[in-house]
Amino acid sequence: MAWRCSGTTNAQLIENMWRSGLITDTRAKEAFLKVDRAHYAPSSPYEDSPQGIGHLATISAPHMHAMAIENIISYLLPSESNPAPRVLDIGSGSGYLTHLLAELVGERGLVVGLEHIPALQRLGESNMRKSTEGREFLDSEKVIFRLGDGRLGLKEPARKGDEARGTAWDVIHVGACAKELHGDLIEQLKAPGCMFIPIDDDDNGVLQSVWRISKDKDGKVTKKNICGVRYVKLTDPPI
Ligand code: SAH
Repeated sequence: MAWRCSGTTNAQLIENMWRSGLITDTRAKEAFLKVDRAHYAPSSPYEDSPQGIGHLATISAPHMHAMAIENIISYLLPSESNPAPRVLDIGSGSGYLTHLLAELVGERGLVVGLEHIPALQRLGESNMRKSTEGREFLDSEKVIFRLGDGRLGLKEPARKGDEARGTAWDVIHVGACAKELHGDLIEQLKAPGCMFIPIDDDDNGVLQSVWRISKDKDGKVTKKNICGVRYVKLTDPPI
């Protein structure tokens, strides 16, 4: 089903995902329509498949990005009780999902793309600079690309003057497959908060499942296995 969502334009790709039921939330659809995947994919940007971006990394397939957004959207949108959601996008790679997230968090929201390969940190940022909206996100520091080991999350304030907002995240998206559900990431999740994370099913690391981890307002953590997936690994940086 998912592969049939390919289109010849960005709008067609998104419309096909909408018709297939991969995108069901109109606010998610609007965000997808605002971000041209051609700014982030090196080839065949409107094909519903992953594409290599160098350094053994890939921009995930559009249907995977749709699944991620659909699972976390209620935690991404600004509300009266939380007008400035903070989002950590671990393994930001091409920067495409980072941009989508920034479209959803509202005026005062913050999205940090965290990469462990310097060239990919730069790639995410330079891809985002291809559009006016992307440049505005970067110049206003609504979006920041940082270098670091995503397995540890990001504990310090992401930008100057942000100290009062704390260092916990409303949403943590992990774009690479973890060996385990890292304790630092659970700890850095706000209560309430939500994490989307692919994890190896066993020690062989062949089969993987993506999990939705939610923390309620009292700090109780619930884990839901969404489906089997195939992601690049969350690892040490290559030498
Ligand atoms: N969401 C990205 C996915 C890129 S592939 C996109 O769709 O473009 C996964 C990314 O995770 C790669 O860019 C890889 O460099 C990064 N990665 C792997 N291990 C990491 C780690 N320990 N810390 C941070 N990033 C990591």
